[in-house]
Amino acid sequence: MRKPRAIDRLAKEFEKIPGIGPRQAERIVYFFIKQGPDFIDGFASAASDVKNLVRCSECRSVSETSPCAVCSDTSRDSSKLLVVANTADAEAIERTGKYDGYYFAMGALLSPLDGINPADLPLNELKALVEKKRFAEVIIATDPNVKGDATALLIADALDGVCGAVTRLAYGLPFGGDVEYADEITLSGAIDGRRNINKRSNQGKVADGVKQ
Ligand SMILES: [Zn+2]
Repeated sequence: MRKPRAIDRLAKEFEKIPGIGPRQAERIVYFFIKQGPDFIDGFASAASDVKNLVRCSECRSVSETSPCAVCSDTSRDSSKLLVVANTADAEAIERTGKYDGYYFAMGALLSPLDGINPADLPLNELKALVEKKRFAEVIIATDPNVKGDATALLIADALDGVCGAVTRLAYGLPFGGDVEYADEITLSGAIDGRRNINKRSNQGKVADGVKQ
């Protein structure tokens, strides 16, 4: 019996997803067929909605509008900017209810082995935003692992002399952990225990409550 071409065609699309191999891709296609037309229509329409999302011109988060709802909210603390790897991490921080400043999403972390070099990161955009909005403190909330640490140092260098303090979430987050999956109590502790990592501002005045 010949396999219908439509199966191969859809399987090839699923294979493009990181972590999905040919056999898994085909299994997903058969799952779709088994679920029936309503499921497939729902999936196609949900995928199409994602297509219409944009990147916020200020924080670079994936959003329905640009600027996004957070960047347009003037009631937030305009002295703080929190830098995350991606939108999902910003959402995890937001869920703690502990932070009411603004966000910036890097989109990726420094990883030369994966072809992500400093020039591939939006460091200039970040610096321009910090200069434009005059944030007093930039809090770096990249994951506590090798890529997250390397990216944090790069950001601290890029922002040297641009803002009062560059701090880094540390306390409570285990090395090798993941901001997105940390529980809210751990993340709240990490926000409270952030440390100053900016060379120049170490000698100067830092934001209230920040440990040196
Ligand atoms: Zn935004």
